[in-house]
This record gives sequence, C-alpha cells and structure tokens, in this order.
Amino acid sequence: MLIEARKLRKYFRLGKDKQVHAVDDVTLGIADNEVVGLVGESGSGKTTFGKTLIGLYDKTGGQVVFRDRELPQRYQAEDYKRQASEIQMIFQDPYSSLNPRMTIQEIIAEGLLIRDGGSLDSVRDKVVYWLERVGLHGDHLSRYPHEFSGGQRQRVGIARALIVEPKLLVCDEPISALDVSVQAQVVKLLAELKQSLGLAMLFIAHDLSMVRYVSDRMAVMYLGSLVEVGPAESVYFAPRHPYTKMLVSSNPEPDPQHERARKDVILSGEIPSPVNLQPGCRFAGRCPLAEPRCRQETPLLRTVAANHLAACHLL
Ligand code: SF4
Repeated sequence: MLIEARKLRKYFRLGKDKQVHAVDDVTLGIADNEVVGLVGESGSGKTTFGKTLIGLYDKTGGQVVFRDRELPQRYQAEDYKRQASEIQMIFQDPYSSLNPRMTIQEIIAEGLLIRDGGSLDSVRDKVVYWLERVGLHGDHLSRYPHEFSGGQRQRVGIARALIVEPKLLVCDEPISALDVSVQAQVVKLLAELKQSLGLAMLFIAHDLSMVRYVSDRMAVMYLGSLVEVGPAESVYFAPRHPYTKMLVSSNPEPDPQHERARKDVILSGEIPSPVNLQPGCRFAGRCPLAEPRCRQETPLLRTVAANHLAACHLL
C-alpha cells in the first residue's frame, strides 16, 4: 500500500465529558495508482478522515503509514514541508481556497518555490505547462482568481497541487461547489490525470455516480465507521450493506439503462449525533432490518465477496 490508515481515530472533545467520535477505528489503504472513493452523507466523518490521514488534524489514536514510514501523530511545521512533495490536497471550495491577492502564477508556483527556492521567473515554464495540462491557457498567468469561473478555479487548485508531483492526492469534495455541468468535466480531468501520471487518490464526495466513474474501489462511511469497502462497480451496482443500498438508491443515476434496473430503497431519517456513541450497529436506528442483537453487538467488517467487505450481522 502507498498509504494505510490503521485503526485511525479522531475524537473531538465537547465540554467536560462528551466526545464527538468523528472517525472511529478506520482501517483503509490506498495502493499506488489507485483511486479510492470515500462516500457517505454529510456528517459521516469522511472529510475528517481525509484531514486526519494527512496530518491536518492530530490523531486521537491509530496510525497512518506512508511508504512503510509511520506519519507523526501530531504534525510540526517541518513535517508539512517534508510531506508536501508526496501528498497534496484539493479543497472543496474553489472560491475560498485561492488567495484573491495572488496571481495565478504565484498561486501555482508557491509550493514549488517553498520546496526548492528560486524565483517566480525561473519556474514560469513549469507553471505554464501545468496550467495547460489542466485545460487552462498559458496566458492566464497574470490574472487573479476572481477572473475565473468555479470550474476554472478548481483547475487552478489541481495545477497547484500537481506541480510538486505528489504520489497521493486527497480530493475533499472537489466538485460539490460546482455547477452540475462542470462537475463531470473536473471528474473527467482527474480520471485522465490519474491514468497519465499514475497518481493515487482519495476522492471524497457524496455524489456516488461521480465517485464510481473515477474510483477503483469505494469505501462507505457511516457515523465515523466504514460499513462497506469493495470494487467501485460492485459497491455501486451490487451493494451489500443496508446503508449503502439506501445511499445508492437515493443518488440520481445518469445512465437511463441502469436507472431503470435500480430498486428503490428509501433512505429515511437523519444521521444521528456522533456524541458518546453506544455499542451496537450505528445504523440500527434507521435500518429496516434491525434485530435486537444489532443494538448490542457491533458488527465488524468481514469479507462478503471477492475483495468486498461489509459490516452487518445479516451478511
Ligand atoms: Fe441493519 Fe443490523 Fe445490519 Fe446494522 S447490523 S445494518 S442494524 S441489519
């Protein structure tokens, strides 16, 4: 594995005796040149997982191993600097993630200059190359972020991340702030970059059909825990866990042939609070199949098909 979270945990303290279990004992690896899509409703802990994985949050417990090296529990400034060449992140909001006072050239070159030193002029050709690689024009160098559309800004964010040639890209809801028509273009660009650069990615999103398009494997998160992990096509077209079935069913399917074949399973209720969680299956309060033991015993992830894991007592 290129990177592996082992029983990774992130809790946030809430007052004296309460804790939010945002990420709870999550074990998930990403291989070289593999895209893992992480899906779940808002509040499932997917973004917290991504940020804890790469050190933007301190870990409460567990480990993250990158290329056989354990990453720090708590990052210092020099740890981020060391890691920047290997791991980069693309953020959800292309409007606030770019400094409005910097030109596009300064934004894209920043990481490279921090790492290698040099002048803006010395890396000009490289910046132009990456601008064009993400579908923008070389003559955009002296423009400012406000002169671009949301989709173009996200392309600038991608160029900024890729100029340092990382091995892993963590994409945190990279398309959710974009118009629907632009979402597919950005996903297509990321899929093409994965192929041509051999990049590994953690692709966090809640639109399952987009995640399926770009991912090799899909992991489904509910209330801080993984409930299903498997090849993207099987998780999407043959989900095993009751929560995944509901999630897939509530997601619009762009392919009319697949849309007709789908069985509707309604996802009712809301994700409960992750504060001071009780034992048992976390989905029991919303699961139509729940049995008494579901409220007492916590189901563990186990193999339900080739390379496919799910956590449910009934499987
Ligand atoms: Fe539903 Fe029980 Fe399976 Fe949880 S363990 S998903 S409550 S059937």
